[in-house]
Amino acid sequence: MSQTAGLSPLHGSGSEKTTASTHKKSIRLLLGLFFSSGVALLAYRRHSLSRSGVAGTIVAGTTTLGLGGWSWGLSLIFFFVTSTFFSHFRERDKALTAEDKFSKGSQRDWLQVMANGGVATALALAHGLTTSPATHTSLQAGYAGALATATADTWATELGVLSPQPPRLITTGKQTTPGTSGGVTLLGTSAAATGALSLGFFFWLIQRGHRVRIALPSVAFISGLCGSLFDSFLGATIQAMYYCPKCQKETERRVHNCGTRTQALRGLPWVNNEVVNLLATLFGAVVAMIFNIPSQRRHKRHHV
Ligand SMILES: [Zn+2]
Repeated sequence: MSQTAGLSPLHGSGSEKTTASTHKKSIRLLLGLFFSSGVALLAYRRHSLSRSGVAGTIVAGTTTLGLGGWSWGLSLIFFFVTSTFFSHFRERDKALTAEDKFSKGSQRDWLQVMANGGVATALALAHGLTTSPATHTSLQAGYAGALATATADTWATELGVLSPQPPRLITTGKQTTPGTSGGVTLLGTSAAATGALSLGFFFWLIQRGHRVRIALPSVAFISGLCGSLFDSFLGATIQAMYYCPKCQKETERRVHNCGTRTQALRGLPWVNNEVVNLLATLFGAVVAMIFNIPSQRRHKRHHV
């Protein structure tokens, strides 16, 4: 960046630079396609993704690696691999304690993939379409926030359900059954915090060669934790919940596992788990971008 600082945009090397960066981008897009196809097919063979989930993963992976860069693509893989690992972790125990949420297996379809990775993918697309360094820094913070939220939320869901203490609703503190949206446990919240921080730290580690500010892990930690708490809040308030009259149980499904049609209990009918995940990752991205503003100002002053 600093080498071209004095050059006018009309200067010959400007267009050469553009050609080189387009070339670099095409190679990264191809590698993104290659890597994400590999990861997605492995996950498909392990029954972690459905066919449409494979397609969604390839779209998200190719876009983030191709248009965001290596650190973006590898961070997405970090989220994906750790989440897949935790969703298979003590699978049988989870099916027992929270049958409703975990009995369908952990095979994700494209809607579930995009609910967690859609905001991140859109930010990578924006990154590919803009050239301003300030916008790139801001988009990168947003990307870290969205991915930190997805990581925090998945770790919290997959590990929190193993908590020996029953969860409490984030809004009222009332005890609820494991696996219920909006329920939080100390174990789950600690898992969320650890997940968000790990994602930020991983992102920061692979960027060290590029003089990236140290704030990234803390931005990811705060935004990821906020995002995942927001997820629980939405789960306890506007997410649609139903009641199975046959099993006399609360569920997120319109048709219960037992095949019975459920009755509406609370929440908005269009707000399912995917909508909640999408809104939470968006919230995490916005928190990260706001939180990143002061460090960006410092950065600017440094360079003037
Ligand atoms: Zn039932």
